[in-house]
Amino acid sequence: MKPAIWLDGSLCDPDSAMVSVFDHGLTVGDGVFETVKATEGRAFALTRHLRRLARSAAGLGLPEPDLDEVRRGCEEVLKAHPVAFGRLRITYTGGISPLGSDRGTAGPTVVVALVEAARRPDATAVVTVPWARNERGALSGLKTTSYGENVVALARAREQGATEALFGNTVGALCEGTGSNVFVVLDGQLHTPPLSSGCLAGITRALVLEWVGAKETDLPLDALYRAEEVFVTSTTRDVQAVHRVDGHTLPGAPGPVTAEALRIFVERAAADIDP
Ligand code: PLP
Repeated sequence: MKPAIWLDGSLCDPDSAMVSVFDHGLTVGDGVFETVKATEGRAFALTRHLRRLARSAAGLGLPEPDLDEVRRGCEEVLKAHPVAFGRLRITYTGGISPLGSDRGTAGPTVVVALVEAARRPDATAVVTVPWARNERGALSGLKTTSYGENVVALARAREQGATEALFGNTVGALCEGTGSNVFVVLDGQLHTPPLSSGCLAGITRALVLEWVGAKETDLPLDALYRAEEVFVTSTTRDVQAVHRVDGHTLPGAPGPVTAEALRIFVERAAADIDP
């Protein structure tokens, strides 16, 4: 299936949907985005995603997005292509601006794209990478389109047969993955790094904290090697067990805590499309 595209207020043909080569999102990565799960033609946790889009835009100093308009874009692409399982990608950028100048005055660019997606396997391998997330940086905790660092780290993971790369922060504490948050079980207790570690306020992370419960704890990166269980969370992975971290295997993944977290997550998510 071709992606369904909604651009600046209306549905359009994906082959002719165009964004200017002078769009600030393209030239300098001045934009924010959301990836939303689409199941049976409905968007999961859309209200939380729209709120985070607005928070990221505010953090980047972009004009406030019209969230009703963005929601309408999501609904229109879903109506045009009610996929059984897919992803909505919402992109909101600084808009057109001649090279060398600040943002233009033409207003932001808003794109909603809907693509079909494959479900992720139950368990996966991850690696740690030597580059640090800057928990004190200007973009910390914002979901911006400046994802180059994540692209490089994910390529490193793939080279090693893994599907996710985990970052520490500038003080060596466990932070997050390139597109996921991380949970670890130590002495039977579930932990996840606090937002002050520099991680994104993941929506799946928040739902696991609310529905399953976990301690927000600063942990050294090597806690991953001592953990009884590790799992990663994201819109595209839900709760995904980790069976290998670097050279360390976690036999029996998903372990009991992970399996229970996944069970609760699936049950609660099925009962409420917009928790
Ligand atoms: N951390 C980063 C850097 C991400 O890009 C994402 C999602 O794309 C997440 C964490 C997980 O967030 P969510 O559960 O809202 O998908």
